[in-house]
Amino acid sequence: MQFTDRINRIQISPTAAVISEAEKLKSRGVDIADFGPGEPDFPTPDHIKKAAIKAIEENKSKYTPAGGIMPLREAICAWHKRELGSSYDPKECVVSVGGKHSIFNVMSVLIQQGDEVIIPAPYWVSFPDIVKYAGGTPVFVETKPEEGFSVKASAIEKAVTPRTKLLILNSPSNPTGGIVPPDEYQGILAVCRKHKVWLMGDECYSHFTYEPHKPYSIASAAGSEENVIIIGSVSKTFAMTGWRIGYTLGPEVLIQALIKLQSQSTSNATSIAQYAALEAMRGTMETVPVMLAEYEKRRKRIVEGLRAIPGITCEWPGGAFYAFPNASAHLGEGRHAHAKNCSELSKLLLEKAHVALVPGEAFGAPGYLRLSYATSIERIEEGLRRLERFFSRAEAAA
Ligand code: PLP
Repeated sequence: MQFTDRINRIQISPTAAVISEAEKLKSRGVDIADFGPGEPDFPTPDHIKKAAIKAIEENKSKYTPAGGIMPLREAICAWHKRELGSSYDPKECVVSVGGKHSIFNVMSVLIQQGDEVIIPAPYWVSFPDIVKYAGGTPVFVETKPEEGFSVKASAIEKAVTPRTKLLILNSPSNPTGGIVPPDEYQGILAVCRKHKVWLMGDECYSHFTYEPHKPYSIASAAGSEENVIIIGSVSKTFAMTGWRIGYTLGPEVLIQALIKLQSQSTSNATSIAQYAALEAMRGTMETVPVMLAEYEKRRKRIVEGLRAIPGITCEWPGGAFYAFPNASAHLGEGRHAHAKNCSELSKLLLEKAHVALVPGEAFGAPGYLRLSYATSIERIEEGLRRLERFFSRAEAAA
């Protein structure tokens, strides 16, 4: 069948592919230590669920404005101001069907053939494909493990060309947990302003930061009004991945273009989910530190456990809920190698050790593996035992 060039430019999300392979084994009764999915294992907080039930009972089940109900747009701006120090007006906010939808729409509105988009690597799997779908060219800037995978303003400036239209900055990062400190972020903003480049901050993990880091938004910096676009989501912060509510904050003209696109494509995000998100934004945030404290414990256990496996190195992620170990010492063609690359290694780990994780190739980082620690300590312990066994058995055989 003949498809368009634009759909042929992209691939199915590799994380989705891993999840579906693991699900197949699970359905056959295989016990999988699953480090695949990038979503909180906590339930959506009760007060948010109750708000959705109330919305259903009150028949709030009709179309809403394409850009979202006004109380939610107001509440998002108020929440972002309170939590992250910005000063957006509801006219500068649009509600979308998740952070990914927001990113997709921003690219559709701003990027076309010939435009370059700078993406620090390792990157979240969807960034380059969304850019390519829009017709743009992703330009990668490598970050280093010894620098906590944090990108520098000087590296961004080197990558800027007359064709650069936009920079995507995801801090804390999926997959590395890397965080761009506020002073460096402001340096990056200055570079973007100097070269008239949009700075799109993906803040989906804003509230999952570990000491000494704190939640930070570049929208709180002076001079961010003209060229900063903020992508946010209730998915991770409020354990609401399935509800599909995200938002974009930015200059009013851009928001109007995004609403125009939504009015001709998705229309509004689900009305019931919008009322749930309204409660998330207005209600108590007490579940967030509880989740964070749990992630902190898991982070410690998984990083220490991975570091104890011979040939594996692993940095401390500054935020999010992913460990990103390097397994290069186990790769290659030699007798001691377990696999040629991480894609092959992750297949072996799934089939032989029943451990599901995502190979680094998916994130532009060959040699690395991504393990989500949004799973219980017991499952982390079990997964680590399996990994230790897998690597030491092969070690002994070599
Ligand atoms: N941005 C990053 C870096 C992510 O990891 C994700 C989800 O995994 C998203 C955006 C999109 O999240 P959602 O569409 O659920 O809001």
